[in-house]
Parts: sequence; structure tokens; C-alpha cells
Amino acid sequence: MDDKLMLMIPGPTPVPEQALLALAKHPIGHRSKPFEAVIADCTEGLKWLHQTQSDVLMLTASGTGAMEAGIINFLSAGDRVLVGTNGKFGERWAEVATAYGLNVETITAEWGTPLDPEQFREKLEADTAKEIKAVILTHSETSTGILNDLETINRHVKAHGEALIIVDAVTSLGAASVPIDAWGLDVVASGSQKGYMIPPGLGFVAVSAKAWDAYKTATLPRYYLDLGKYKKATDKNSSPFTPPVNLVFALQATLKMMRAEGLEQIFQRHDRLKRATRAAVKALGLPLFAPDECASPAITAVAPTTVEAEQIRAIVRKQFDIALAGGQDSYKGKIFRIGHLGFVCDRDVLTAIGAIEAALPQLGHENFTPGAGIAAASKVLAES
Ligand SMILES: *Cc1c(COP(=O)(O)O)cnc(C)c1O
Repeated sequence: MDDKLMLMIPGPTPVPEQALLALAKHPIGHRSKPFEAVIADCTEGLKWLHQTQSDVLMLTASGTGAMEAGIINFLSAGDRVLVGTNGKFGERWAEVATAYGLNVETITAEWGTPLDPEQFREKLEADTAKEIKAVILTHSETSTGILNDLETINRHVKAHGEALIIVDAVTSLGAASVPIDAWGLDVVASGSQKGYMIPPGLGFVAVSAKAWDAYKTATLPRYYLDLGKYKKATDKNSSPFTPPVNLVFALQATLKMMRAEGLEQIFQRHDRLKRATRAAVKALGLPLFAPDECASPAITAVAPTTVEAEQIRAIVRKQFDIALAGGQDSYKGKIFRIGHLGFVCDRDVLTAIGAIEAALPQLGHENFTPGAGIAAASKVLAES
């Protein structure tokens, strides 16, 4: 059936009608007074979402553009950096840093396991010469559904004193608390097609005062992604280059929705959707890829052993018009991922679980009581 597709992938995420209507408006001049008011409103909303009084800058770029901006504005070729990698996006950080000639040391964990904060502590404590310029990591590792322990790792970075902490919060912002000022996070990158509930096209970078100090001496080349240009413009409710004005209208609409819902409520909603999804997957006799203690509130990865992940995905897509995500790189075909990020509610989770539950017997996986997934999810949703 046309136009019935339901996105349960970790980006692009579903878009609410208020945002779709904003996208359908006539564009206006990006140097006009009315657009200045839109930028001013968005900037205020972005600071609220990021829990910061410092700068949050908007780029016309996908999340990776925001990550790249987070590297090139604050570091110089040859700088020693520690990069945490336990999935596709941590590896992307290492690739960006390597592409720009940084001296990259990776701290690695297996896909499906969290980064170990102790390994960061050891490296940082051993660095008495204070050569480490930055610690770079992914908060919610979308490829595996792991939420890394940013708070503890950041505490070790603070004890070091010199290094910046640079974070990919692409699937944690708007799903889990990322208290930028309270924790003292220096650079935080994200993208519009995830927790922001709008289509792809905007990247966001939050920048601390300490990062701006580093900006002054950083020597990597930069032009389009020179964040100094964005700060100067944003301070005047403007933008250095032509922004996708309709996407900014849409952002204004979803930030308004988010503020009406409330930060704590948003985090609680994602937490219960996560718990409901995980309870259902367990009840269906399917192994979860990430342990409970460090599961991302945005995405649940499932590692079926008795059935092919891709076959489950294919039936759910074909029979129910629900898009689930597959595994990435060497986990292609080994896992599938259920996105529950952004404009997602109880109904969506029950629908997706129902579809998976209906697909399993078609593939010969019948070692669960019919209705067990829905029952387990409903129980969590009723309790919380
Ligand atoms: C989606 C995502 C990105 C950004 O990817 P783009 O395709 O460049 O928008 C980066 N990090 C994580 C963890 C993501 O989930």
C-alpha cells in the first residue's frame, strides 16, 4: 500500500505533521527580519535541548559534517588524540581524525560491548606531559545499540585537565540526557534526522568556552565548516551561508513540540520504549545484542540465531510496511535494529513488535507463546 511506510530505523526518523507542514511553506529570504526571528527562536531551543548556555551552531550538513567540523576547528595536524571505537560510528571518528593527520590512538571494545572507562583513565593518567589534546567518542553507538558511559569517561578527561572532550551525540541528543554544561562537554555533534524529528540536512555542533580557546590556536584548514563564521553569524541571528530555510522552519516546529513535552518527559519516553522493546524481544526468544546496563534508549539491536536477521526484516518490510535497520559492516545479516528514536510512541513499538512476532513463525521460529512479545511490551508500557 502506498504511503504506509513506517520508519523504525535509527535515522531518518518519523517526522510529525507540524514539521511536514513547515517544510511545505514558501521559502523566505534568509537575510530577512522574519527569518532572523526564526533563527533566534531555534537557537534558544537548541540551547535548551543541549542543556547549555554556550553556543550551538547549525550547519547545512549531515551528522558526519558536524563531526568533521568538531575535529578541524579545534585541533592541529599531529595532535595526539584518544578515540573510543566500539562500532561503526566510533570507527568513523577515527577515520575523520586520521584523514586530517591527527596522531590517533584508539581505545577499542568489541561491537556490542561498551567502551571501558578505565582504559581512558589509564591513558590519561599516564600522560603527565599533557600531550593528549582530545578524547573523542560516540555516546550512543547506533550500529550496536550501546550507550557508552560518557559521564565516567568525561570525569577522567576532566581529571587530566588539558584534553578536550569531543562527542558524537547524534542518537543520544533528544533521547538521553546530555547535560553539556553540567558535565563540561566541549564539542558535541548531532544531526537533524535523528532525535530532532525532521528530515536529514542539518548538522549541529555545541561548542564550549574551552573549545573556543583551542579554536584560536588550531591550524587545520577550514572554510565552509569554520565554526567561527557560524558563531559570528548566529550571534546576530543570521547564518554565514544560505541555510535550508524550510528545514529550519521544521526545526522551529519540532523544538516547540519538544519544549511542550519537556526534557525529562522526552528522556522517560525513550527509556520506556527501550524497556518495552527489550522485554518483548526477550519474550520472543531472540537474543539482544547489547546488555541491559548499557542499552541505548534510541535503538535496540537484535542478534537472532535460529532465523536470518535479513529474512525477518524482509517480511516485516513486505507484509507490514515497516522499515527495520540491518546490521552494518561485518554484522550485516547477523543483527537487525529497531529504531525507537524521536517521534515514536507506544503504538509504534507495539506495532513493530507485533509485526516481528507475526514474521517469526513464518520462518519456523516458534519457541514462544503466541502474543508473548506484545504482552511483555504492553506490561512495561502499562507500568511506567
Ligand atoms: C546517523 C549517525 C551519524 C551521522 O551520520 P550522517 O549519515 O552523516 O548523518 C553519526 N553518528 C551516529 C552515532 C549516527 O547514528
